[in-house]
Amino acid sequence: YTEPTQDFDVIVVGGGPAGATVSAAVALHGHRVLLVEKETFPRYQIGESLLPSTVHGVCRILGVEEEMARAGFKPKRGGTFRWGRNRDPWQFSFALSPRLADPTSFAYQVERSRFDAILLDNARRVGVDVREGCRVTGVLADEERIRGVRWTGPDGEPREAAARYVVDASGNGSRIHPHVGGKRIYSDFFRNIAVFGYFAGGERLPAPNDGNIFCAAFDEGWLWYIPLRDDLTSVGAVVARENAEAVQRDPATAWRRLIDACPEVRGFLDGVPQATEAPYDQVRVRKDWSYWKSRLWRPGMALVGDAACFVDPVLSSGVHLATYGGLLAARSINSCLAGSADETRLFAEFEARYRHEYGLFHEFLVSFYDMHQDERSYFWKARKVTNVGTTELQAFVELVGGLASGDASLTGAGPAGERLTAAADDFERAVRRLPDADDLRNPLYESETFRQVFQEGTVLQERGLFGGPLESEAPLRPGGLVASEDGLAWVEPEP
Ligand code: FAD
Repeated sequence: YTEPTQDFDVIVVGGGPAGATVSAAVALHGHRVLLVEKETFPRYQIGESLLPSTVHGVCRILGVEEEMARAGFKPKRGGTFRWGRNRDPWQFSFALSPRLADPTSFAYQVERSRFDAILLDNARRVGVDVREGCRVTGVLADEERIRGVRWTGPDGEPREAAARYVVDASGNGSRIHPHVGGKRIYSDFFRNIAVFGYFAGGERLPAPNDGNIFCAAFDEGWLWYIPLRDDLTSVGAVVARENAEAVQRDPATAWRRLIDACPEVRGFLDGVPQATEAPYDQVRVRKDWSYWKSRLWRPGMALVGDAACFVDPVLSSGVHLATYGGLLAARSINSCLAGSADETRLFAEFEARYRHEYGLFHEFLVSFYDMHQDERSYFWKARKVTNVGTTELQAFVELVGGLASGDASLTGAGPAGERLTAAADDFERAVRRLPDADDLRNPLYESETFRQVFQEGTVLQERGLFGGPLESEAPLRPGGLVASEDGLAWVEPEP
């Protein structure tokens, strides 16, 4: 072990997808980056189902798209859902039309230990000083700004390191996020608990949808079924937080019982043994994942990934938000270090875009839950638009500042609640049209709600397909900035 001898421009805390993205994207502009990660990779993490924006957008910008293609991950064309009024499963595909699939209209199902290691190794390759087995214990600050971190090396000895910027990418368990924007604001609506584990195989959906995530609603909540390899399937149940005690007392029994309660998933696993290889031999539990913050940056520090916010697992948005947030932060940092504009303006761009994206997914997911009809079930009755509390709506409208709908005049719970109901109806109508879809039309894209939520992802995907955005990007708000040609900084929009 040798101590870092140089000074750093940026210190990144945590080497998951958010940290690996922001650190590599800053190092690619020639800046000096230290990344401190408490585990030694490969390490386990949940969040295995990706979206195309990560695979073809962010991974391409970072230079790992080909390595991802070679890694042998299971290609994912979309999602299959047993969800809503109809008892028959329906498909949602990343392609604009069922027939004219473009080369970026897929993502992957990934073993996170391998995916995260690919991203972290790439960060190291492009010049990031990655320190695994080291832990950040606090920040260095004065009245003006955050100036660095306190950390312990593999020997457990405390150290200090200074930098112009500290990025907290240390995930759900972050200890330093309160230095930006205080406490997390937890969602009541998404206040669920997940219990999950692995099977050594399992039935697959018919090709070409055999790589799809399958999400099945049942009385007590919903289950995910993710094909990771022919001999490995990730299966998790999301149920109401009220079950926490029973689930935590005996996770394995709770997990088995919930799978048995969902006929569709139970049928896929008939006679299939539970996985015995590490780290897939355990049944794990996660809760308290749905929160946001009133601020995402302050002078000298920014939050990205789960350290900043997360909504809910149902639409595989976590790694997208983490890598997208990492990219946005890197653009602001690179521009600041190049002295191209004022720090406040550059980080305001990061924060506005990140909130906007989070806001879109949050709204979409509320309406997605609303869509499922099961009047007898406590879980589904509680997850109706009408049960988004006034406090939560108000806090949320403040967070996105009306941006989520492009409507800056929203101030109270009334219009936001009405908008959510309208979004739920709009999406439900699109899903009902799915069985009649012809070869050229994907009815989901006729839903404004659906189009909006994937809009930014589509811009990232275009970078993957064409090497850059198709048209010159419009700023998100008046006076806002747009991404540079290489996607790694902010520039003034073309007049
Ligand atoms: P992480 O991946 O958690 O990485 C943070 C890193 O920081 C870790 O490696 C940790 O060791 C390190 N660290 C922590 N503290 C310190 C410290 N003090 N010093 C140094 N290092 C530190 N997302 C999807 O995209 N698809 C899914 O299908 C999906 N399913 C999910 C299911 C559930 C039940 C849950 C709860 C989440 C799911 N997610 C999913 C979300 C996904 O897990 C996260 O959004 C994603 O892992 C966030 O990445 P990150 O880089 O922010 O954090």
